[in-house]
Amino acid sequence: MKVQNIEEEINQTKNHLAFLENRLKEIQKNCDHDFKRNHNFERCLKCNKAEALYY
Ligand SMILES: [Zn+2]
Repeated sequence: MKVQNIEEEINQTKNHLAFLENRLKEIQKNCDHDFKRNHNFERCLKCNKAEALYY
């Protein structure tokens, strides 16, 4: 595999990752959260968003 090909694939993967993260953020932003409490955090049953609990 050529270095250029590898670099190109790395960039494509980064772009894809950014795309996925944005989609996830968007879904979690628009979610009507249904949090279930765990030890020191709570996690939404619908979108899997986790939030730390502070005491
Ligand atoms: Zn949610």
